[in-house]
Amino acid sequence: MIKERVQKILRELPPGVKLVGAAKTRTPEEILEAIDGGLEIVGENYVQEAERAVDAIGAKVKWHMIGHLQKNKVTKAVRVFDMIETVDSIKLATEIDRCCGKIGKTMPVLVEINSGGEERKSGVLPEESVKLIREMAGLPRIRVMGLMTMGPVSEDPEESRPYFRKTREVFEQLRLLDVPDTEMTCLSMGMSDTYRIALEEGANLIRIGELIFGERKSKRAPAGGGD
Ligand SMILES: *Cc1c(COP(=O)(O)O)cnc(C)c1O
Repeated sequence: MIKERVQKILRELPPGVKLVGAAKTRTPEEILEAIDGGLEIVGENYVQEAERAVDAIGAKVKWHMIGHLQKNKVTKAVRVFDMIETVDSIKLATEIDRCCGKIGKTMPVLVEINSGGEERKSGVLPEESVKLIREMAGLPRIRVMGLMTMGPVSEDPEESRPYFRKTREVFEQLRLLDVPDTEMTCLSMGMSDTYRIALEEGANLIRIGELIFGERKSKRAPAGGGD
């Protein structure tokens, strides 16, 4: 089932778009089934859960951090992940840079945009993103590769469109600015219920959980939750 679902989604994706399998609460066996179907990137929200999955599965896929990352988990996170999609402050970026320096790694990162301007939601506000990215560009062990957004949760997928569009606009603006030592190539937007809209609005990385793995039983792990 999981395998076939991945294959179906992959067939549907336009060229240049990559699928991230959002694997929070899923077992290594479930993740392996998805890999069997062609999944190449696994997204994890929790560092500890990711460590267990990486131990079981290894480097045959790329591992992306898609949950909120706490500073005290960064040492472990930089060992486990190939990309951190959720950087939203210079403090967190500086800590990632410092920990990467210790292990001789350069970390590709995305800047998470709080596209709905929601209080108590992670992500940097769209209007503050350019300043943050200019600051981050000076960190030698970090490579800014693009933007990620969740957008406000809604029953109607269509309501996500303005937030995806806003993030796309910031993305285009940053491409034009061409900030030195950054590469604006990845735009990570859209989940199971909103990915078609995200694709229409220019996403090239989509993060899908339930549509691949089935409904999540545990409510411990809402979308976007993390360490
Ligand atoms: C869980 C999660 C997803 C996937 O959500 P689904 O509704 O299961 O497709 C995408 N992005 C983030 C950050 C998540 O936490």
